[in-house]
Amino acid sequence: MTETGGRQAAIDRAFMRQALAFGARGQGTTWPNPCVGAIVTQDTPDGPVIVARGHTQPGGRPHGEANAFDRAGPNAAAGGTLYVTLEPCSHRTIRAATPCVERTILAGVRRVVAAMADPNPLFRGLGFALLRTAGIAVTTGVCEDQAQAAHRGHVLRVTQGRPMVTFKIARTADGYAGGPGGARLAVSCPAANGWVQLQRTHYDAIMLGIGTVLADDPLLTVRLPGLAERSPVRVILDTHLRLPLSSQLVKTVAQVPVWVIAAEAAPVENEMALVAAGVEVMRVSADPQGHLDLAEALRLLGTRGITRIFSEGGPTVAEKLALAGLLDEVVVSTSPNALGQPGVVAVRPGLAAALADPDLYALAETGLIGHDHFEHFTRTG
Ligand SMILES: [Zn+2]
Repeated sequence: MTETGGRQAAIDRAFMRQALAFGARGQGTTWPNPCVGAIVTQDTPDGPVIVARGHTQPGGRPHGEANAFDRAGPNAAAGGTLYVTLEPCSHRTIRAATPCVERTILAGVRRVVAAMADPNPLFRGLGFALLRTAGIAVTTGVCEDQAQAAHRGHVLRVTQGRPMVTFKIARTADGYAGGPGGARLAVSCPAANGWVQLQRTHYDAIMLGIGTVLADDPLLTVRLPGLAERSPVRVILDTHLRLPLSSQLVKTVAQVPVWVIAAEAAPVENEMALVAAGVEVMRVSADPQGHLDLAEALRLLGTRGITRIFSEGGPTVAEKLALAGLLDEVVVSTSPNALGQPGVVAVRPGLAAALADPDLYALAETGLIGHDHFEHFTRTG
């Protein structure tokens, strides 16, 4: 690579990192659409400067590029460069908004730098081709790994029909998530609990098993100052529709939606009572022991537009998802405090083996949050 080319590549990476950071702001709010970040720059004698930034808006529109052009104002993008974290869309949807490729051409952009192509095989490369046909220079694959990670939920929904799933498991120093007989434990320190609340805002849905709901009666909303509006959909795996009408979840259904996934054989009268209270009930297959078909449940959530799921409960569910290849990110937090007696094992043997297998998972990050030690695993296989 020439010296000039090398310098341009470094500039491109720097602006793309900013586009990725800006795009991340809308994470959890744009489903069923991906959360795209976009930055428009103009060259000046002192080097390129940012004239506008944008990201996909809540509900999925306007798209990131359109949001950046809207913010830039008339003519401000003409002759400039658009940095975008995903290939601009080229097709009109039912809602008939102007595709971002058209917006880019109309804005007079001279060059487009994109991190990755559209994962949908029907459209992949079409946006780039249309831009090039219009005489715009196109560079692709800049910071692609980071973009693939940022858009993982969207990519999985488009290519496999299911959302990405992140599981958070909290355990004591001796490895337990619950006390003897499943008794509730306050495992995490306050700082780690705050971190979990913040994580929830980056996801479209929180998923929990009915066992945890019956034991803890959780609210599962975001209670951090200023972020209450960012509470994701609350999804409960509830084979027999045991969710009590008196639970905090049902009582707050008007503020944040509750979706319950039940077995086909669950009592119809329970469904009617929950639906009357405002809960949405969906049904999937279950095995004779009453275990829901998790792959089917995830596909169902994918058809409803969910791209990212955060789950905080159920060592058994975590293990089953991991062994089925349906668990994409695993965060294990370990408290310095021990339970001191046998309890509910947090990381079951099958999950522990999977996390230790380099063909399945890689340890992406470790660190301390408050007093708790965190390990972040990401699926590789
Ligand atoms: Zn678009």
